[in-house]
Order: sequence, then C-alpha cells, then structure tokens
Amino acid sequence: MRDPLNKIKPAVRAITAYTLKPYRASIKVNQNENPFDMPEEIKQEVERRLARRPWSRYPDFVPAELLERLAAFAGWKPEGTLAGNGSNELIQAVLMVTVGPGARVLIPEPTFTLYRQVVTVLGGETIGVPLTPELGFDVDALAQRARVDRADVVIVCAPNNPTGCVIMEDDLVRLAQSFDGLVVVDEAYHEFSGRSVVPLLAELPNLIVLRTFSKAMAMAGLRVGYMLASPELTREVHKSTLPYNLNFFSGTAALVACERYDLLRPAIDRLIAERERLHRRLEEIPGLAPVKSFANFMVVRTAVSPDAVFQALLERDILVRDVSRYPMLADYFRVSVGLPEENERIITALTEIMTRKGPSGDHAQRREKDRTQSR
Ligand code: PMP
Repeated sequence: MRDPLNKIKPAVRAITAYTLKPYRASIKVNQNENPFDMPEEIKQEVERRLARRPWSRYPDFVPAELLERLAAFAGWKPEGTLAGNGSNELIQAVLMVTVGPGARVLIPEPTFTLYRQVVTVLGGETIGVPLTPELGFDVDALAQRARVDRADVVIVCAPNNPTGCVIMEDDLVRLAQSFDGLVVVDEAYHEFSGRSVVPLLAELPNLIVLRTFSKAMAMAGLRVGYMLASPELTREVHKSTLPYNLNFFSGTAALVACERYDLLRPAIDRLIAERERLHRRLEEIPGLAPVKSFANFMVVRTAVSPDAVFQALLERDILVRDVSRYPMLADYFRVSVGLPEENERIITALTEIMTRKGPSGDHAQRREKDRTQSR
C-alpha cells in the first residue's frame, strides 16, 4: 500500500487530536477537578466491596443497581438512565447515533472543544453560534439558527466550560421547542450552579442530559458519567456503547458516592464559597477582570498576554489553562477553584505578576490604556 493514511477520512486528517500538554505544578488548577479528593470513609467502603467480589468475573451486563441508584440520585427513571466510562464516552455515544455525513450540530462558542472534535470525526458539520459580548448564551440566535439551519442536534454546556455561564429553564424550553432536533445539555458542573434541567425531561421528549462524577463528585480518575433522557432515546444511544463499558471498580465507587453524598456535599459548598471569594479578590488586581461563573472555575481577562501570565504562574508552581486560542477569549486564561490556601497563593502570585515593574508591567499598563481609549 502506498500510503495507508490515504484511508483515513480527510476530515479527520485535517484536525489535530484533543490533547493537553503534560505540565506539572504543585497547584494544579487547569482541569476543573475537585481539589478536596474523595472522603476517606467512601474510599474505604469502596475498597471493602472490591475485596469481597471476584475480579475474574465480568461486571453485570446491565448495571441495574447502579442505574437505579443514579436515577434516584438525579430524580429520573432508571429506564432513561445510561452509565458510561466518563461523560466523554456518552458525548461520543449520543453523537454516534445522531451524526453522519450531512448532519448539523449547533454549539454555542466558545465551549468544550470535544463536541466539535467528535462531530468532525463522524463526518458531520458543526455550526458555532457566538456567545453574547458578556459571554452568556445568545438563546435567540441559537433558536433561530437551529430552526433556519435545520440542526439535528444542539449541544449546550451549562454551566459552560470555559466561561461558566448558565441557561435559564424557560430559555431552554424555548430553544428545545424552536426546532425539530435534539437538545443535549452537558451538566458536568451543575452541582456548582444549584441549577439543573433534569425536571424538564418529563416535558421535553427531545432533551438529553449528560452528567459526570469527574468534577463535584471527586472521581475524575475513575471515569464515570451518566446520561438521562426518555427511555426511547436511551435505548437508541445504548446501541452505540460497548459492552461492559463501565468497570466494576468505578461502578462501585459511583454507587457508594451516591449513597454517601452527604460526605461530599460540604466540599462542594466550600468550593462555591471559594469561587466567590476568588472572584472578588481577582477583581481587585489591576489589569485582571474575572468573569462571573456558576462552575468551579472562571475565565479571567488579562491586560498582559495570557501566555505571559500562564508562564509566570508556572514559574511559581501554579498551572492554569491558557484559553486564548478559543473564539472570543484571546485575552483570557481559565483558573479552577483550588483549596483555600491554593487560592491564596494564586491571588498573591497574580498580584505580583500584574503589578511588577519591567517590560511586562509596562506592557500591562499600555494594553489597559489602549483598551479604555478604544471603548
Ligand atoms: N463535559 C464537560 C463540559 C467537561 O468540561 C468535561 C471534562 N473536561 C467533560 C464533559 C468530560 O468529563 P468526563 O469524561 O471526565 O466525565
């Protein structure tokens, strides 16, 4: 064969893989993880259950106990619940059964980059609808484009990664009823917002909700996500997942985490309070403008180049995410909410970086001046 790569779909060859550079730092606030980790009591109960069960046997073909527990936890039906190897797998599963050549998927942008990646690999077309200048969802534009472009699927990430904005329930109903396709709401960060569209599942037959155990539930290393939708849609999406996609270890951990949510909740409340504190403190730093967020992270506009801030923080052993290549975010970086003492170090480091004298300090002042003059 001359060139085996000729057999790869051109749309796939044209894109780069979804990757993350493996930087290391002791304050890791680049992936929106839960800095508090899983409570010891939950870990021990999971270990006890794992030790009791033979590892040589497959997990249950249908993890019925877990699905029932997840459904009760979320307030939905077990027949409308599907578990996956992280919510990434379920994003892929939903798109695999809906997207082929010619399909159109509408997404607000900037948002989680995996949606566009998967749609492209599957041969579909992604249509991006910009957020408003204040970085909120432009629901009128979404509804209009969904109708006019005959979108097959609209994906709304709420709270949105990376901007942290949410969608109001009545706006979602309006959007879901404005066109003849499916609406996927990715609720990866919903616990930090106190909002959910799950109660709307009963009235919107075209709604699919995705959730994860990787963020508030402190289980990113174990890879568990779940999907909630009508039993009819769930049966179809299930056809694209692999048998035994969820291993017994992770399934058991998810079960125990639901049973002992009372042990996880205090850390979530703590992170919400820390988010508000971090926002207030960042607002006070010259040259920084944090954006209000309903998740466990926020984007911050900076008068110095985001790359320079990223590097200067890394030199101080702090790893944030440079999101300046995302649409609309050329002047921003993203920071996850860390432990209180980590947030304190982030605030101190950013104060130092933004107020230091020298080339980048002058640069910061110049950029801020340009900005105010051009308004
Ligand atoms: N959705 C969103 C919006 C995310 O930010 C992430 C993680 N970065 C995921 C889904 C995937 O989460 P996981 O596969 O760990 O459940």
